[in-house]
Amino acid sequence: MRLFGTNGIRGVIGEDFTPDFLAKIGMAIGTYLSEGSTVIAGRDPRVSGDMVQNAVISGLLSTGIDVIDIGIAPTPAVQLYTKNHGDFGLIITASHNPPRFNGVKAIAGDGTELSRNEERKIEDIYQKERFRIVPWDRTGIYSPGGDANSEYVRRILDNVNVEKIKNRKFKVAIDCANGASSLTSPYLLEELGVKVVSLNCQPDGRFPGHESEPKPENLNDLMILVKEGDFDLGVAHDGDADRVIFVDEKGNFIPGDKSLALVAKYILENGDIIVTPVSSSMAIEEIAKMNGAKVVYTKVGAPIVARKMIEVKAKFGGEENGGMIIPEMQYCRDGAMGLAKVLEIMASTGKNLSELINDLPQYHQGKISVPCANNKKDDVLKELEKEFSEENTITIDGVKIVGENWWVLIRPSGTEPIYRIYAEAKTKEKLEELIEKYRKILEEIIQKF
Ligand code: MG
Repeated sequence: MRLFGTNGIRGVIGEDFTPDFLAKIGMAIGTYLSEGSTVIAGRDPRVSGDMVQNAVISGLLSTGIDVIDIGIAPTPAVQLYTKNHGDFGLIITASHNPPRFNGVKAIAGDGTELSRNEERKIEDIYQKERFRIVPWDRTGIYSPGGDANSEYVRRILDNVNVEKIKNRKFKVAIDCANGASSLTSPYLLEELGVKVVSLNCQPDGRFPGHESEPKPENLNDLMILVKEGDFDLGVAHDGDADRVIFVDEKGNFIPGDKSLALVAKYILENGDIIVTPVSSSMAIEEIAKMNGAKVVYTKVGAPIVARKMIEVKAKFGGEENGGMIIPEMQYCRDGAMGLAKVLEIMASTGKNLSELINDLPQYHQGKISVPCANNKKDDVLKELEKEFSEENTITIDGVKIVGENWWVLIRPSGTEPIYRIYAEAKTKEKLEELIEKYRKILEEIIQKF
């Protein structure tokens, strides 16, 4: 049985996530680790966070694992704290999912998300119920504490040119989506000499401001505030703040692939490597070429990108959804580090965000989904590979058809009963034409099964 999805174990409270299920997850993870190991546990501000975390911790303690509970903290802060102080980490978060969801994310001792292989070992222990329950006098020790959030902010400040940023005296509006970054990003900005106006920056697991996914329809207040006020920048995080999304000084939403391309442009030097999933913009490829750097593509999924980056010693990496991985900081998506980096780029170039974005290679991107039952997905994929065997394709994840100045990627979702079509082209017309053409082909193939 598969417990872990693309981003940890996710479930609905009271349905999938019950105390006995969660305690067993804790027991399985505890058994996988050696007795006496220290696990760092942190969480986002979801209402169910205490229930979920305590159940998992109970399972861990029963297998002789010690736990340090650092409370509410952004996902990258828990990852950093795990790397520095623990043998393993657990984050209780469902990222951007609605409030009825929660999740358990497992972090290896190096601060990076667990590899699929390691997840399989935990799933195997869970399934066979081969738990190492220790006698009473070897029960693990629970201790609250650890100032993970301050440590995290300090570490970011070590990795950017603070003086340069301070000199610009930026004014920034930030929307933390009532998530974990409420406890870190506004303070980071203050340390960078930024005048901060905050929106939804009180942690609240009901997400009263808006859903915690940083997409345009959820960021209207932020966009209006930036447009009407005299701001240099608008910033938004998702609920657990491993991602960052920007609004330019005119109030325009900047898609994540653009901010990724922007940071790539200023980080990559001759001979460097950038790692990104096959779904990423051609702008990355163009920028890498201009800077003498190389792109290494992976399957979609942040943990895969991070692990590949370690393997190939990449300088930078990330995803189109606002997830940036900056190795000087750590090998995981890091929303606040991405924010500090963009401020540094603005400070060192003296340009505002809209100018910086306009200077990038311009492409149009689109994404749609087509329903497809989970049990049909493999057959459909085989048929797609056959269908496009004559064309220039990349089959690392789904099928990517690459043309002159355009591409289309058709891949099954790992979490939902759908296929996704991603496309990119130089003009809007070409983009629409591509999506329409490949949607028809995909629907016809799905109908065959
Ligand atoms: Mg997230």
